[in-house]
Amino acid sequence: MKSVVTGGAGFIGSHLTERLLDAGDDVVVLDNLSTGASRNLESIVDHPRLTLRRGDILDAAAVADACDGADRIFHLAAAVGVNVIVDHPLDSMRTNIHGTETVLEAARVAGAKLLLTSTSEVYGKNTADALAEDSDRILGSPLKSRWTYAAAKGIDEAFAHAYWQQFGLEVAIVRLFNTVGPRQTGRYGMVVPNLIGQALRGAPMTVFGDGAQTRCFSYVTDVVPAIIAIAEHPDAYGQAFNLGGAQEVSILNLAKRIKQLLGSQSEIVLVPYEAAYATGFEDMRRRVPDNSRAHSLVGFKPATSLDDIILNVAASMQSALIPPAARVMAPGA
Ligand code: UDP
Repeated sequence: MKSVVTGGAGFIGSHLTERLLDAGDDVVVLDNLSTGASRNLESIVDHPRLTLRRGDILDAAAVADACDGADRIFHLAAAVGVNVIVDHPLDSMRTNIHGTETVLEAARVAGAKLLLTSTSEVYGKNTADALAEDSDRILGSPLKSRWTYAAAKGIDEAFAHAYWQQFGLEVAIVRLFNTVGPRQTGRYGMVVPNLIGQALRGAPMTVFGDGAQTRCFSYVTDVVPAIIAIAEHPDAYGQAFNLGGAQEVSILNLAKRIKQLLGSQSEIVLVPYEAAYATGFEDMRRRVPDNSRAHSLVGFKPATSLDDIILNVAASMQSALIPPAARVMAPGA
């Protein structure tokens, strides 16, 4: 089986690539290394069934070339992270809209199945108790950059659905809710690596707004097998599936728990949104998934607790900070 992973050098893409290689696939990673990094693939870089291609999803020839002969394509390449979207709205929209259309077309030409990764952002400001896949979307003004990500991903889903309707493309969509885990960087704004990094350094832990906004964090190794199972299930085509964590937590309580679990001396500071982001930034107060559709189709159950997520991410960040030589020395030292 030949699988293509766009964005395979990214945080989630690298975990997915490892899993596909373990399952026996030949895997082609197509990544422009913008927010992804080759070090994410360091444990598998010499794998005989892995091909790495540095290329952009806006380059139709590079995409077609990578997808030639593919059985299935996992499309994860995207402009992600609030900082990237707000600072580079035009490039982000081009990548997220035109890039996805390019990948859909390459899948059609190759006769490959496609798994499109979308996001819980598509629900926008809907604060329902549990967001189901057909819940309404409540988005702010398209003139506020933050909403361009949700708008672009919504268009991607509509494109995918139209390819399924019009060409019979076997395409399934997953909406990821705040997936976290080792290799995610805080550089583009993601809260879990940001707060854990600050706690480990003893730096102030920055909680934006009043900290009462909530999220349900899911662990990457719970989510990746579900992505593959959905991609493999014929009943998934033409549909979207939420994949999110089970435990709702406010960002202030998240910061407190991180501080406590890591025994950090950091102080927790509330930073007004205007200081943290560009003017006019709007946050989501609440985002809770209804995972029942993915549970009934492929048995998805987010198993990793928030405490384990925090401890695992902290351990991986600490080991990345220690130079390899020191790492070898450490156990006997
Ligand atoms: N956030 C925070 N401190 C940070 C980074 C983010 O308080 O250092 C907040 C952010 O404003 C949002 C939540 O944490 O309310 C989740 O942010 P993230 O960017 O990780 O994900 P998203 O907003 O896409 O859910």
